[in-house]
Amino acid sequence: MTIPNTEDATPAAGRVLVLNSGSSSLKYQLLDMRDQSRLASGLVERIGEETSRLVHTPLAGGGGESRERTGRIPDHDAALRAAAEELAADGLGLDSPELAAIGHRVVHGGLRFTEPTVITDEVLTEIERLVPVAPLHNPANITGIRTARALRPDLPQVAVFDTAFHTTMPEYAARYAIDVETADAHRIRRYGFHGTSHAYVSRKTAALLGHAPEDVNVIVLHLGNGASASAVAGGRCVETSMGLTPLEGLVMGTRSGDIDPAVTFHLKRVAGMSADEIDVLLNKKSGLVGLCGDNDMREIRRRIDEGDARAALAFDIYVHRLKKYIGAYSAVLGRVDAVVFTAGVGENSAPVREAAIAGLEELGLVVDADLNAVRSSSPRLISPDYARVAVAVVPTDEELEIAGQTFALVDN
Ligand code: AMP
Repeated sequence: MTIPNTEDATPAAGRVLVLNSGSSSLKYQLLDMRDQSRLASGLVERIGEETSRLVHTPLAGGGGESRERTGRIPDHDAALRAAAEELAADGLGLDSPELAAIGHRVVHGGLRFTEPTVITDEVLTEIERLVPVAPLHNPANITGIRTARALRPDLPQVAVFDTAFHTTMPEYAARYAIDVETADAHRIRRYGFHGTSHAYVSRKTAALLGHAPEDVNVIVLHLGNGASASAVAGGRCVETSMGLTPLEGLVMGTRSGDIDPAVTFHLKRVAGMSADEIDVLLNKKSGLVGLCGDNDMREIRRRIDEGDARAALAFDIYVHRLKKYIGAYSAVLGRVDAVVFTAGVGENSAPVREAAIAGLEELGLVVDADLNAVRSSSPRLISPDYARVAVAVVPTDEELEIAGQTFALVDN
């Protein structure tokens, strides 16, 4: 073994830029994986519109004032170049020798990508081949990758797939009960999403319980504007609530979640709606927003406190669906060690956590009201000591997980 001469050694590249390209937005975060610190973050929104906006926040050394740019940013290429300029203004430019890699969140990895993958021309072609199963998501991810490669062709770029964690689901959980030839011809099956969050949170929950991930069974409830549940047995996902697309499963901010598929034929035949109109209805105008006009849980709780019946019904429908999934996933897992809440609603809404667990004592689930009321950004238990199954709140951190998976691939 050679011992490095630390006096002469230049610092090893330890920074990772994480890029999350949405259809009209780009989120970025620069992390230093040597100490897991955050150096900068930013968001470009309304890309392609006259009212585009970039907000960049320096985070190094205690952080600095956010800076804002407004005015048309025509495409993702221009958005990433603008973000790179802001990073350079803080001395964190993409040309820095300290940058080890760029990690891209890619929504759909199909069946091919079960692990984070260094992006080659061939990998990019494969991601493009998945566009028909993820028409809303993968094109933006691909643009982000192309631009980043143009800016730093020499730098490793890594794709971290939202679907990867769920590829361990058994075939009987991943298949829909439809004609097999039709399903296979069009790659129709349950893929699941939010995988980086489910992976990170289930691992953190095991650590909170003082066990290795292999030794615990966990139900993860990722409740953000998008929401999904997963059943994780010994560190491997065995079931998740999202399917071919992120529409299936829980009630979400603007998505219906589970619905009788015949509702769509009915809307077409009886209401005369087109496939695109039904898509918009179920993805953008349903869920909490469709039920009561608001998708922010804080606003819904405020309205309930004022006696608003529509907000109360929306809340009850949301919680009822959650309970059904907790029950179903308890049955799937057989033995449950923890139920864990994460993401915007899961981390912050004590009433949702309380209502979702209420009445589940027979499953070993109890919430302690005082612990549930504590506001904290740390992983914590909210169940009493005597409870058979732990109930926990674990803040998710998809950027850190993407950066960690990216760095693990390129750090050698
Ligand atoms: P996410 O997609 O994880 O960023 O979650 C966004 C959602 O979290 C928002 O739409 C709100 O419904 C919810 N949320 C954020 N902060 C709070 C809070 N303090 N209390 C209740 N819900 C919250």
